[in-house]
Amino acid sequence: MTSGTRISILSDHVANKIAAGEVVERPASVVKELLENAVDAGADDLSVDIVAGGRKLIAVADNGSGMSRDEALLSIERHATSKIRDVDDIERVSTMGFRGEALAAIAAVSRFELVTRRREDVEGTCIRLSGGTLQDVEEAGAPAGTRISVRNLFFNVPARRKFLRTDQTETSHVRQVFLVHALAHPGVGMRLRVDERDVYTLPPGDLSERIPALYSPTLMDSLREVAYRDEFVTLSGFVGLPEVHRPNRADQHTFINGRPAQAPLVHAALSEAYQGAWAGRRYPVTFLQIELDPEAVDVNVHPTKKEVRFRKPGAVRDAVIAGVQAALRSAGGTVEGPPEADRVRPAGGGAPPDPRREAAGASRPRPGGDAPPPAARQGYPGPRAPAGMRWQSDLTGWVQQGERTATPEDPGGDEGGGRNRLLGRIASEFAVFDTPEGMVLLDPKAAHERLIFERLLNQVLADGIQSQGLLSAETVDLGPREAALVRRHLDALREMGVGIAEFGGDSFVVDALPSLVSDAEPGELIREIAEGLQTLGTRSLPRTVLRERIARDVSGSAVRHRGPLSEPELEALLQQLRSADMPYTSPRGRPTMMLTSLQELRRKFGKE
Ligand code: ADP
Ligand code: MG
Repeated sequence: MTSGTRISILSDHVANKIAAGEVVERPASVVKELLENAVDAGADDLSVDIVAGGRKLIAVADNGSGMSRDEALLSIERHATSKIRDVDDIERVSTMGFRGEALAAIAAVSRFELVTRRREDVEGTCIRLSGGTLQDVEEAGAPAGTRISVRNLFFNVPARRKFLRTDQTETSHVRQVFLVHALAHPGVGMRLRVDERDVYTLPPGDLSERIPALYSPTLMDSLREVAYRDEFVTLSGFVGLPEVHRPNRADQHTFINGRPAQAPLVHAALSEAYQGAWAGRRYPVTFLQIELDPEAVDVNVHPTKKEVRFRKPGAVRDAVIAGVQAALRSAGGTVEGPPEADRVRPAGGGAPPDPRREAAGASRPRPGGDAPPPAARQGYPGPRAPAGMRWQSDLTGWVQQGERTATPEDPGGDEGGGRNRLLGRIASEFAVFDTPEGMVLLDPKAAHERLIFERLLNQVLADGIQSQGLLSAETVDLGPREAALVRRHLDALREMGVGIAEFGGDSFVVDALPSLVSDAEPGELIREIAEGLQTLGTRSLPRTVLRERIARDVSGSAVRHRGPLSEPELEALLQQLRSADMPYTSPRGRPTMMLTSLQELRRKFGKE
């Protein structure tokens, strides 16, 4: 019977169903495609409706450009797109979608209805398809814009239908997609209705209005605005203080040229920007808009266009680090750090120069240079009177020698960080302060950990990484993947102070470790490093590994056994904490202090 192989070109029908597998995974992916199309069509008002997790109905209506009858018919053809004509255009794509597959793919696996009218047309067009087959095309009265309704998703693909989760789960995926696009396009009025109930009604506005509408209204208090621009990159948006952090990246939003995007490089730059805020796996809350020349971004990496690549990765990375760090250091109405010129970043750090510091002519310590690290310079540990200060027993706090007591009108001996007045303790566990910015709650233990951590880290970074020989060399057996990684980065490992040599197969001999972690189990450490090499690259790895190790030591040891601190000690502790590089969290990611600003207090008491 097999008289030869017959190669046939797949019918569009089949091709669409295959494409649907790529584009349409679940109701949320339909919502994503339809939202992107609506935004591309210039809509400034749109609504999303889903019923039964999107299984029964997904409808997206917009007031965008609309389509003529011919355009509408074309839009449901595979590879029909108005957004790209030839391969060269791919380089310049700045719209959301450009593959021209989404509508055809969605229509192939649902009962699909498209109603559309251009503003200039009197009559609109209504097109219906079922399982990709055209059912009818007719004139229809319709508001200007487009409404697409997708019913009975996957009715003709039982295998896919089986993989859908509960309505509740599918709904939460849809909500996440809606949320991300609502953040990406704050200027577009957006509504989400689930099972005929309003979930979000978002008027057009800017990001600072949209965030509180989507999250808790108080989140804004913990965010700092980002404003950064250089030759290649412009950054805007908001980033969370380290005090707010999450166990995953769900609230780590980055938008590249207006497109919600996940880029490993940006993730790595963000963890670098928050260096040392948390040693464990915690993630900051970010709403970061990254703008750059569209030709410098590769969007065609993944079929669903979520991951992007950069032509100048170094420039993007440096910009994100500089922009986010500048934002985190900005006062923004919360606890302030010391004057800029007083801050010393860990020597030998990978962070780029901060333009503001450079402009101010602040001197930066050189790696291994003679400027002491900040914590050491402040004489930590053992809170004691700052030079030239004396303790004022009426609870005013440290005041300048020979100076009269500060009054609210005249902050008197105010030393950069403002005046912190201890009001008392709560459950002998927390301390409450009155400060110029508002009320501060302090966890002394976490604050201690932060200070000791930074002191150790700065010492290590200033002295360079030293190696210490092991009493006896150890053999470490790794898995094939880890071994390959380690082999590729042997030089980097040696630079970090790991004495390591290949031992045949996937085994290695280790005869020295970085002195700070010389009591670590070599196998465990090498594995940790291998993992770090994969996610972080060689550049920021040494510091990250050291950081995690130090954090572990600090939290475990010395600090635990300290007795209760005296009042002056507590006040000095807060003062020193304010000068820390990352004052808001302990090295393990717990908050060290919480500020309730005066403004917030007034609001809570209905005075504003
Ligand atoms: P792509 O978005 O990749 O171009 P789609 O299949 O999503 O592919 O859409 C095909 C075409 O249909 C688009 O290029 C656009 O011209 C048109 N289109 C889709 N949705 C809308 C809409 N909501 N308003 C106006 N035109 C639309
Ligand atoms: Mg599209």
